[in-house]
Amino acid sequence: MTPLTIGFIGLGIMGRPMAGHLLKAGYPLVVHDLNRQAVATLVAAGAAEAFSPREVAARSDVIITMLPDSPDVEAVALGPDGLIEGVRPGVLYADMSTIAPTAAVKVAHALAAKGVRCLDAPVSGGEVGAINATLSIMVGGAEDDFAAMRPIFEKLGKTITLCGPNGAGQIVKACNQIQVALNILGMAEALVLGAKAGVDPAIIHKVLSGGYAQSRVADVRGPKVIQGDFQPGFKARFHFKDLNIILKTGNDYGVPLPVTSLVHELFAALLAAGGGDLDHTAVITVLEKLAGVEARTRS
Ligand code: NAD
Repeated sequence: MTPLTIGFIGLGIMGRPMAGHLLKAGYPLVVHDLNRQAVATLVAAGAAEAFSPREVAARSDVIITMLPDSPDVEAVALGPDGLIEGVRPGVLYADMSTIAPTAAVKVAHALAAKGVRCLDAPVSGGEVGAINATLSIMVGGAEDDFAAMRPIFEKLGKTITLCGPNGAGQIVKACNQIQVALNILGMAEALVLGAKAGVDPAIIHKVLSGGYAQSRVADVRGPKVIQGDFQPGFKARFHFKDLNIILKTGNDYGVPLPVTSLVHELFAALLAAGGGDLDHTAVITVLEKLAGVEARTRS
């Protein structure tokens, strides 16, 4: 059986390694990105090049997008020269970006009218998860579309879960981003307090990692934070985007999110200070300025 041709749009920190896995798995791949250097890297590895979402759609049986935000996905899917202009009925489309649940439902409904089988399939696990193909993929859509897409998701991730109808994947991702943000701030406040009180942050990190305070955030990013390494990873401006999605979703459903609101303001301070392109853990620098201390290890 000829393998399905996959169109992949959005070859950034996440999309580039994800597209690479699909290529290695033997799927013919058609790629597009506004950044032509990112396209050239995949083409050198064996992918075919396209110049618009419409062209990707016309050449693909399955389409995946991994783009920054809701307006990007709406433009690529529904805009001029978008997927909607080139797509054939029956094509599977998974948007794996993190976007507003309402935008995911809007795109799915518009493309469903053309016979496209849409899934929202945001991911967790970060750049490391994308590189190691160990992402957690949370999916919204119809069961049979999920089943059809599953073998492809399995090349990208380990935990693959159908969460409900279109939009449900993005709802679960919003929940995920609340917990990650609060874990980061928990780690950050602990390190800042300990550092100001004179304890080496490396000792605090080691002790907390061995007990009930242990978290994936601290395991993965803690060693970098105490070295002052804020190279992204996950850019702070993307987590701020997610916090805006979360607060809007809370508003839509009548759910107060008091702690997330505070975290939102701390991220706003980081962005105002020019830190949007740093890793999201750089939000610790906002607390450090408040406390007048830097939580850096001496070792
Ligand atoms: P990125 O900025 O590194 O990559 C986005 C890519 O999309 C860029 O290469 C950009 O040129 C391209 N792009 C933007 N608009 C486009 C358009 N109209 N047409 C074609 N290409 C376009 O971002 P990333 O870190 O890979 O994140 C992508 C998505 O995944 C975001 O929604 C983010 O929230 C989510 N996410 C990221 C991480 C992470 O750790 N980086 C983890 C989980 C989820």
